[in-house]
Amino acid sequence: MDYKERISYLTDLLNKYNKAYYIDNNPIVSDVEYDTLYKELEQLEKDYPEFIQNNSPTKAVGAKETLSKTINHEIPMYSLDNSYSMEDIEEFYERLYKMFGKDIELTVECKMDGAALSVTYDNGRLLQVVTRGDGKSGEDITNTAYISNLPKEISYKGKLILRGEVFMPKEVFKELNRKRGEMGQSLFANPRNAAAGSLKLLDFKQAQSRMLEMFVYNLAYCDENISTHEEALNFCREIGLPVNNIFFKCSNLNMVENALSEIENMRFSLPYDIDGAVIKVNNIDMQRQAGFTAKFPRWAIAYKYKAQQVSTILEDVIFQVGRTGAVTPVAVLHPVLISGSTVSRASLHNEDEIKRLNIMIGDTVFIEKGGEIIPKVVSVQQSLRSDNAKEIIMPSNCPICNSPLEVIESDAKRRCVNPKCPALIQGSIIHFASRDAMDIKGLGEKVVEELFNAHLINNYADIYELKAEHLEDREGWGKVSAENLIEAVNESKNIPFERVLFALGLRHVGIIAARLLAEHFKSMDRLMNATINDLENVKGIGKETAVSILKSLKDENMNQIITRLKDYGLQMEYVQSNTGASLQGKSFLITGTLDKPRKYYEELILANGGSLLSGVSKNLDFLIAGEKAGSKLDKANKLGVKVISQDEFLSMI
Ligand SMILES: [Zn+2]
Repeated sequence: MDYKERISYLTDLLNKYNKAYYIDNNPIVSDVEYDTLYKELEQLEKDYPEFIQNNSPTKAVGAKETLSKTINHEIPMYSLDNSYSMEDIEEFYERLYKMFGKDIELTVECKMDGAALSVTYDNGRLLQVVTRGDGKSGEDITNTAYISNLPKEISYKGKLILRGEVFMPKEVFKELNRKRGEMGQSLFANPRNAAAGSLKLLDFKQAQSRMLEMFVYNLAYCDENISTHEEALNFCREIGLPVNNIFFKCSNLNMVENALSEIENMRFSLPYDIDGAVIKVNNIDMQRQAGFTAKFPRWAIAYKYKAQQVSTILEDVIFQVGRTGAVTPVAVLHPVLISGSTVSRASLHNEDEIKRLNIMIGDTVFIEKGGEIIPKVVSVQQSLRSDNAKEIIMPSNCPICNSPLEVIESDAKRRCVNPKCPALIQGSIIHFASRDAMDIKGLGEKVVEELFNAHLINNYADIYELKAEHLEDREGWGKVSAENLIEAVNESKNIPFERVLFALGLRHVGIIAARLLAEHFKSMDRLMNATINDLENVKGIGKETAVSILKSLKDENMNQIITRLKDYGLQMEYVQSNTGASLQGKSFLITGTLDKPRKYYEELILANGGSLLSGVSKNLDFLIAGEKAGSKLDKANKLGVKVISQDEFLSMI
């Protein structure tokens, strides 16, 4: 056999298959066939490395064996000072004006809402891709980052160090979340998270499918004689690097203001997310002269746009029943375009929120879409209320099963307590299979609904009675997907006891309580025999929780289900593990908005042995700062408390 020819043939063929699969969304071979050819190529490349093609599809997959390592940035990566008003920009400009004694040429560009990376080329080849990290050192992700518009080779042969922002286009994000929803996987909160989460994927095919893109925004090192930022970007563009075309050159503050509002106006029609604009001194010599403060360059500043609010009409309020039986009012809105997508539903949280907003059906309301996927109603234009406005009446019966709702004053919620309510049962199955519980891949909301309606599962114990033959002939299913689900179900039998306990969905038993109970009682049998005193003795379990747990465990139906789960071979004994102590002895405080509720992060901190402080002091080890962090951040900076981002925090665990 001519090995060189075979390698070249396989390389082209697999690349073609990849394109069909990932780009055209139209696979032309089965996975098995692809994998067989792929393995053949891998073996041939190992035996005849001299014939490996530059564009080999196996190249980045080698990363599977190499863990990413931290490396120092040759040139530190700075972050920008943020501003939220034109006054801040005026101050920024005035400082520069004083320094140079004349008007200064500034540039205005989009501030991409993604992740900053440093990219090095030498001798025409892409050498290294490194995350920003703390600015001094970052993670080497050369082998895992797949950025679709970043060329592996360029015509320019000199050394280049570039700074760019990697992002996921909105369309790709929407499609990714749609697919994840179908698979029962957790959704990404926004394209920025999705992009950050896609940079370190070890599976090359998966990484490729994320369709990340980059815009170069700075040339940190180059041997060419370049005197302005504009020239630097044009140079990058000419040698084939991706640069955003939205660019303004401004010779005075007025022009800057116009550029900022022009970018703001196009913000939601752009195919990618931006969260503001960046203003820079154009002249590079002047940039050098202006220099840096302790933290930021003096020659650049970020201008952040406010979250968008849009007004619309509240047409109706419907009531949804969650897995705990809690009934949530949902606003039905006259469809309106916000942050680039059409919105027709918004959360109203609970009865108290309805009172607080003083909201009625028919009102004109302002809605806002922050970092969350679901928008919220922020205010009501009382002056526009018509005589026909109707009061919102909370239901007294469950909208699904019609049984009377229990009113719980403490959390302003009404709850369906009928254990046979289909909404509760489906919700409990979805919870059981969810990632933090039994992590059964492929058993998401839609599949649970389908199997429940088909009476294939009437409770979560029934999941373990499912057989591939029940599923494979159903519409939308096949042999492979049916077998995959059954395999995922079987794999869940290895999930540790504390998560099984959490998966049961007992009221008041969240991840933390489940772990405390598992650690204390060590086995399901001992927990089942616990008295109210035993339960109250568990550190971290209050009286209300103890009573509620006891009540749930004595329930005959629950008893039967637990017995069945035991028989199916689920883990019912606690196994001590050493993980979960990575934050031992460290104290934390959270400020600003993170991607998930603060409670989630607080539980993570406690679950990993860390402690929570209520205020910023010298005793605080870490301040986790999210968006819109305010005075706590300032204080932490003053006291020299280490400030970390949510991602940095997650990497500590
Ligand atoms: Zn109900």
